[in-house]
Amino acid sequence: MSNLDIHGLTKSFDGHAVLHGIDLSVERGTLLALLGPSGSGKTTLLRVLCGFERADAGTIDIDGRRVAGPGLHLPSEARRIGYVPQEGALFPHLSVADNIVFGLPRAQRRARHRVAELLELVGLPASYADRAPQQLSGGQQQRVALARALAPAPTLVMLDEPFSSLDATLRIETRQAVADALAAAGATAVLVTHDQSEALSLGHEVAVLWRGKLIQSATPDVLYRRPVSRELASFVGDAV
Ligand code: ADP
Repeated sequence: MSNLDIHGLTKSFDGHAVLHGIDLSVERGTLLALLGPSGSGKTTLLRVLCGFERADAGTIDIDGRRVAGPGLHLPSEARRIGYVPQEGALFPHLSVADNIVFGLPRAQRRARHRVAELLELVGLPASYADRAPQQLSGGQQQRVALARALAPAPTLVMLDEPFSSLDATLRIETRQAVADALAAAGATAVLVTHDQSEALSLGHEVAVLWRGKLIQSATPDVLYRRPVSRELASFVGDAV
């Protein structure tokens, strides 16, 4: 059953079309990598899905519920989406534990066992709960950001280039930890990246955005073996 359904999504800025009629479905429990070169519209699509931007036309259904369409634009907090930005997601003045429970209803914020569970899920020791974010590496901070996004058990998790600020070694290690945590949580996720090898290695499915159009959505294997165009073959081929 699909957890995210997008039909005919269109968005322009100042008369310049950035998304041209995007159709996409994401099955439950799938990690979809949204891949495309810089400027192809990935962040705009993610922001529209999250409800930070309003589409000009088209519909978005999350878990069978319409969240955007003609005359309808549910705010992000009503969409049950977890969001992990590129970097700087954590509040520096709050402990790791307080960051993780930040988005939970007040009554649940004291649930320390939930913090320990979430830290374990993202591969960090429970003893990190009382640390300040600055005492963690960039990769560890991104794992805490994921733990926070997963805390309210969202229907969908959106990750916007979550590893782009990390150096090469940390990036590989953090990628795997994040993919493992999403799989263990059974989360449906959309991960935006311009990095071909990241998309091919992490995505169960890869959707390629090219100048605002979704030109192919397929498994990594199909995308690699049977890309729909020469341009795409060359772009995907840069991964190896
Ligand atoms: P990507 O994430 O793939 O790099 P973006 O979604 O950031 O692509 O941008 C796609 C296009 O939309 C770019 O040409 C960018 O300049 C334009 N764009 C994005 N946000 C805005 C905005 N708020 N106002 C005007 N143009 C924008």
